Amino acid sequence: MAPETADRPHHPRPGPRALTADGRRSFSFEFFPPKTEAGERTLWNAIRRIEALAPSFVSVTYGAGGSSRDRTIDVTKRIAAETTLRPVAHLTAVGHSVAELRHIIGQYADAGIRDVLALRGDPPGDPRGEWVRHPEGFAQASELVTLIRELGDFTVGVAAFPERHPRSADWDSDIRHFVAKCRAGADYAITQMFFHVDDYLRLRDRLVAAGCTTPIIPEIMPATDVRQIRRFAELSDARFPEELARRLEAARDQPGEGHRIGVEYATVMAERLLAEGAPGLHYITLNRSTATTEIHQNLGVALRDDRALASTPR
Ligand code: FAD
Repeated sequence: MAPETADRPHHPRPGPRALTADGRRSFSFEFFPPKTEAGERTLWNAIRRIEALAPSFVSVTYGAGGSSRDRTIDVTKRIAAETTLRPVAHLTAVGHSVAELRHIIGQYADAGIRDVLALRGDPPGDPRGEWVRHPEGFAQASELVTLIRELGDFTVGVAAFPERHPRSADWDSDIRHFVAKCRAGADYAITQMFFHVDDYLRLRDRLVAAGCTTPIIPEIMPATDVRQIRRFAELSDARFPEELARRLEAARDQPGEGHRIGVEYATVMAERLLAEGAPGLHYITLNRSTATTEIHQNLGVALRDDRALASTPR
């Protein structure tokens, strides 16, 4: 791993640590590693369109295993090498020994990638199954945060759960473990998808009451296709608003109407989150750019903040 700590000339924008520390908002977009060549083309079309918005960073999710993990690493490295975007690499502890995790983090550092989202991950195959740590690996994300911190000058993000982690026994333990993860060295957190702004605000209040002021960036998922979103929401245990589901169902035979409703709902959510002082927004793109760029452009005031950001030195 290259031990350099200087700014990388091809990544002039500040990273999440600097963004959130100086009180400005960050705007970011999330991609996943595609499985096919057609998927790869769709992803790169989206990346190029989103690049034009000069976001604070983009992130690439880490696959559940095998080749999808290699694709995460390849896509993240390619974003670093071929675009002006700042890639944040998701990394999970699932199925990895500590030695393997060190190796992956070293690969990222060698490619000039210094921003990692440190996650525990879910049990492979069945996200609701029992979590079993790798015999030579980590049990919690907090340990991965500590490792990344030890290995160099990285910004480290973690996951936050506005409706609490589905496997947490109660709110007290959920908050306690989240705070431990922040104290291990997390610079910021990104939330799980959610559809009720009050859940985000209550989580933030709970964390402040526990003495934790780590910036929590809300994740924005445009709900344009009711069936797809219901599936995601079930997987992540997010409560999906019945009224929104009813409107999306009613619009199923009207071309473009589901898209319009989903973008409108997400825009209203994003406006309220920003008005309530959220430190930024993290958009799930599903490797397409249309819905998320429309939401972002609807937030005219926030977009101006973002442009101010782009000129801030790290
Ligand atoms: P942890 O912080 O380790 O928490 C997991 C559970 O363990 C919680 O219930 C927590 O309270 C509990 N816990 C923590 N510490 C302790 C302790 N000391 N003792 C007892 N219990 C403890 N998954 C992927 O596979 N790939 C991705 O790219 C990916 N990206 C994500 C991005 C975001 C923004 C989010 C919110 C989630 C993402 N996930 C991803 C899903 C994530 O891996 C799962 O939700 C996982 O179940 C929890 O990960 P964590 O990092 O929050 O785990």
